[in-house]
Amino acid sequence: MLIFTEIKSLQQKIKSLKNGTTIGFVPTMGALHEGHLSLVEKAKKENDIVVVSIFVNPTQFDNADDLINYPKTIEKDLSLLKSFNCDIVFTPTPEEIYADDIQSQSFDFDGLEFQMEGKFRAGHFNGVGTIVERLFEVVKPHKAYFGEKDFQQIQIIRKMVEKRNLPVQIISCPIHREKDGLAMSSRNTRLTTAQRAAAPFIYETLKKAKTLFGTKNASEVIKWVENEFKNHPLFNLEYVEIADEETLLPVETKNPTKKYRAFIAVFAGKVRLIDNISL
Ligand code: AMP
Repeated sequence: MLIFTEIKSLQQKIKSLKNGTTIGFVPTMGALHEGHLSLVEKAKKENDIVVVSIFVNPTQFDNADDLINYPKTIEKDLSLLKSFNCDIVFTPTPEEIYADDIQSQSFDFDGLEFQMEGKFRAGHFNGVGTIVERLFEVVKPHKAYFGEKDFQQIQIIRKMVEKRNLPVQIISCPIHREKDGLAMSSRNTRLTTAQRAAAPFIYETLKKAKTLFGTKNASEVIKWVENEFKNHPLFNLEYVEIADEETLLPVETKNPTKKYRAFIAVFAGKVRLIDNISL
């Protein structure tokens, strides 16, 4: 497994690959878990070589504390990636990516950026667009793998690829969960023992919301979820939304020809957790 910290040397390596070599790319922020590794596994099956980036992108954080406290386990990450036969790891510094101007570009994602995460994390998707486009430019992948855990992010990236005509195929991968249902996340390691023990409540609530959406309208289901969280001693609900998968716009009633998802963001103390479920 080769490890690069510089764009130039990574690009030289990529240029030296035999013509026709297919590259699968998995961008991550590290603190890897089985969710990330499922993306690496899929990329490995579908491409000649797999590149994984580990970069905690400062411009997508709207909260300085969250950035500072983001878990970093680089040695463990590298050994996990090696055991999954990853071919190349790219671990740049912020200066390598941004030089001396750590800022995002401004993107127009046709309104996808104003929903849910976009409403609550100012500038987040401009940061995501900036880093993902930059990484695509450097790695030049044929296919790039993203988890449905960040469903809105996938739709945003698909939009960017379409609007900017980028030569890469976006592959979405299902959410990996702990045995008790909690969506795997690097941030889970920051939960206290009590928060972690209670955290399956989030997915349990989403599953009940899914059942309810069979007979009730979205606003009633949302009210029910809000109520479930109202008196919870450990979790504060930031938002719950039922939206069209394509437009991410909120919906009220089911149209059988469309696909919907329920999305949720919850604070456990200062740790912010997100999850979603197909309806
Ligand atoms: P992150 O390191 O959190 O930026 O995540 C890197 C990639 O892994 C993103 O495409 C995420 O959506 C994906 N990912 C994170 N957690 C999971 C999970 N539990 N299941 C599937 N994919 C995930």
